[in-house]
Amino acid sequence: MFGFVWLAKGLVFWFCARMIYADYNATTPCLPEAARLMTRMLCDDFGNPSNRASLFGRTARGAIDLGREQVARAVGAFADEVIFTSGATEACNMAIFGVMERLMRDRPRILTSAIEHPAVCMPAEACASAGAEWIEIPVDGQGRLDLAALSKELEHPTAMVCVMAANNETGVMQDLPAVVKLAHDAGALVFCDMTQLLGKVPFSVHTEQVDFACFSAHKCYGPKGIGALYKRRGLALSPLLRGGGQESGLRSGTENVPAIAAFGLVADLAAREVNARRAHLQKLTAQLESEVCRQIPGVVVQSAKAERIPGTSMFSCPGLRGKWLSQLSGIVASSGSACASMQEKPSHVLQSMGVDDETAAQSIRISLGMPSTTGEVRQISQALAKGAEKLR
Ligand code: PLP
Repeated sequence: MFGFVWLAKGLVFWFCARMIYADYNATTPCLPEAARLMTRMLCDDFGNPSNRASLFGRTARGAIDLGREQVARAVGAFADEVIFTSGATEACNMAIFGVMERLMRDRPRILTSAIEHPAVCMPAEACASAGAEWIEIPVDGQGRLDLAALSKELEHPTAMVCVMAANNETGVMQDLPAVVKLAHDAGALVFCDMTQLLGKVPFSVHTEQVDFACFSAHKCYGPKGIGALYKRRGLALSPLLRGGGQESGLRSGTENVPAIAAFGLVADLAAREVNARRAHLQKLTAQLESEVCRQIPGVVVQSAKAERIPGTSMFSCPGLRGKWLSQLSGIVASSGSACASMQEKPSHVLQSMGVDDETAAQSIRISLGMPSTTGEVRQISQALAKGAEKLR
């Protein structure tokens, strides 16, 4: 029996080792040093951080304080502006419900870009079910927010505007200073989903002047199940989880100390290495896009004319018969966000950019990461070309 289990494990390992991973926007491998730190926190420094009377508790509290300082420094915030959550999804829910609950009576209106992640759209939709007005602001063919439409919608009293910094499917970056200026001039708060930014481009929440922002450790080589909400000092928020009052009363429940410590470590590294990481991803993305365009006639790189984070390329190939993604044997990529893939729906991001359903369904996102190599990129472009050729 055990022999069979080991054989199966060996086969899975052999198979995975031969695969090329190109889905880093979905998730990244956890850095070994972060995993080792987590193991230490789980097995040795396992105290409850609320138990300040014991050395165990104080050690755990110290690890949280350090993690908070590291994450804050990495995103350009003060430590007391960082609230740990289970990930970016929870941070989005916390900000949207937390703001809307307070402002529902005065300004029951929320604006979101049409290309937000479901972690933003779904809470906004829930606010609409509860009586708020929810308006989606359109984007142009490159995925850039229509600032004139935003300005027009802000003529009505609005509680908050949610615009992501970088889209997870196309990588398109928004003109945040313009969004923030329009929203603040109209008295609206700004929530910015910065999940895909950390470690790819330098930024600071203070410089961008957003009011709330979210982050997730597993997008920057940390563990899954830990993220953070940035809340500008002085802003009020109603908590989603009530109980023991952890995280300044905003997120009750015993803190995930090992994951917080690991998040701090990877966030710190991401900020320190951001220029080198950006250069590596820029180089590989340029190689990938030029090789793909050379080998596949008619292929479209979505949002190619817009400013994008490095490492993300969404390719569309109109006119293919059959599913392009299914032709990519040996390569792990996706046809959009992980959530859209689960629902087997064409990407709402591409639809919002005016891409027809058939072409949207025939699109593949290649997202590269720090372990990606030029050799892998060559194999990916060849596999994309072979797949397209077969389906023409
Ligand atoms: N926002 C964006 C832009 C994302 O890419 C993701 C993850 O796919 C999320 C939010 C949700 O992140 P998490 O998995 O940490 O809940």
